[in-house]
Amino acid sequence: MQYLSKSDYKLARTCPTKLYYKKLHYPALTDGSAFMELLEEDGYLFEALAKLHYPDGVAIDETLSLEESAATTLVALQAEQVTLFEATFISAGKLVRVDILVKDGNVFDLIEVKSKSYTPGEQFRNKSGTVFSAWLPYLEDVAFQALVLQECFPAAEIRPFLLLPDSSQAISIEQIRTWFQFDVVGRAGEWARRLVLVTGDVALLQQEPIVITVAVGAEVAALAADVRQFTARLIDSLNPLRRIPPRLSHRCASCEYRLEGGAERNGFVECWRELASAQPHLLDLYYLSETGGGGTPLASELIAQGTVHLFDVPIERLRKKDGSVGKRNQRQIVQIEYSRAGREWLGAELPDLLAGLAYPLHFLDFETARYVLPSHASLKPYALEAFQWSCHTLAAPGAALQHTEWINREPTFPNERFARSLMAHLGTAGTVLAWAAHESMTLRQIAEQLAERNLGDPALHEWLATLGAKDRIVDMNALTIGHYFHPLMRGQTSLKVVADAIWRTQPELRARFATLLGVEEAGAASLYKTLPSRLIAGQLCTIQNGTDALRAYQSMLFATSPADRTAWQDLLRQYCRLDTLAMVLVWERWAELSAAGA
Ligand code: SF4
Repeated sequence: MQYLSKSDYKLARTCPTKLYYKKLHYPALTDGSAFMELLEEDGYLFEALAKLHYPDGVAIDETLSLEESAATTLVALQAEQVTLFEATFISAGKLVRVDILVKDGNVFDLIEVKSKSYTPGEQFRNKSGTVFSAWLPYLEDVAFQALVLQECFPAAEIRPFLLLPDSSQAISIEQIRTWFQFDVVGRAGEWARRLVLVTGDVALLQQEPIVITVAVGAEVAALAADVRQFTARLIDSLNPLRRIPPRLSHRCASCEYRLEGGAERNGFVECWRELASAQPHLLDLYYLSETGGGGTPLASELIAQGTVHLFDVPIERLRKKDGSVGKRNQRQIVQIEYSRAGREWLGAELPDLLAGLAYPLHFLDFETARYVLPSHASLKPYALEAFQWSCHTLAAPGAALQHTEWINREPTFPNERFARSLMAHLGTAGTVLAWAAHESMTLRQIAEQLAERNLGDPALHEWLATLGAKDRIVDMNALTIGHYFHPLMRGQTSLKVVADAIWRTQPELRARFATLLGVEEAGAASLYKTLPSRLIAGQLCTIQNGTDALRAYQSMLFATSPADRTAWQDLLRQYCRLDTLAMVLVWERWAELSAAGA
């Protein structure tokens, strides 16, 4: 028997065809995603804190089979008043586990815990009653559960709620995340889940004010008919399992079943069939969703007629709605023309732009964290914690590259020390180069945090203000979008994609940077695969992305063995250093092309 679960419903909302691939466990890009795991962990921690606010709650044993869990729930609900965690309900092919269910006679409070932050008074719907898209998946989730619960108890009054982190409240416990521990329970497969054990003082945790419960009955009522109808369509496809026919669109570009290479069961290939293999593909066009004005008419038209090779896109149709060629259209045209020519593009203005930047040039990268339960007392949910920076500096044209870095090693609020160390290094001269807006935004938020918390001194406040106000920070991602393209980048402009495109195709630069990195002349596949692993506590560990860095940082702070702490610190250093070195690699390639008059 295939049940339709909350997570099935949520995935199928993005595309109903995906339900088939999910049920058959087709490989997906989200499998084993460190980012998804970290998000889930954060959600579990908040849920554990939320449940502590219901001290009478009784958990349904998650190691039971689904049917046993449902039967146990029904027995428990024979009580007149009871609060259940993970109450399980099955109705007509649908299955839900309710985070918190409070039964009082004939009234059931269905409480769904989410870790999306909420500001008291915030509205879920606009004036015409339409649910804001940012809240829609959360409210549909509750509406789906309410539907199942009402089917199980037709005479009951169901009152739906969202329990959320209150963004107006600050946490009061220092290092609250260390007051919990993870364990794994449940059966293998989709119902295996992490169990959070509370190791800290429960009474203090119960006083944490960041938990807010919001009634969402009106929103759920507004969505009910649509959710019921969509659910019926999905249920119809489950027993026997059949694939809901795919509707090919620009959205398939980001489908989690779009796997590169020759995966045996490839959902994308099964949907697109012979149209899947076009290289380069229309779906890789920069801002495909903005072709031919709003509503993607050009992309839809090309897909409908089976014209999915990038080179078959009619250049003359790449226009804004008003008929003009916008900046994104220009980028699209460059992508098509230079992919066809198989060579890089350097915009005519870039050499002068680079030549006009004041030395020293500081290539800068930050590592930061944002948790629903922040690490430090008096921080609000998702407050910024800046724990590491790396900077490669070119003091003058042709000078030797210098590297400087800072990493927080103390389990106290790091942001003032972060900013102070950065000020000591960057001073007031030269240009700061960063990739995208993360560094500028981080510095702005640190300035606000220090002001709010009465931290720092006037010199630090002024330096932070000056750094932002004088446009001293140059965004290399924006320079890329406006002035540089490599066919291997396809429609992407992230640092990793740009640096890897250069790394793979420029053997001389690769050899030089391999020396700077202290690695053997690395395989050409990826710059980011050159980082060596370390054996820590018997496990081979490496950091390849920001999420790995967050985990490594926590492991470093709380490692009990000094050797492990040092090993984590080394891994973090080499990772952040690689990011700024990757920026220098891109810069050097631009300088080479500028000198060659490309
Ligand atoms: S490739 Fe497109 S149609 Fe197929 S499952 Fe993915 S999003 Fe849906």
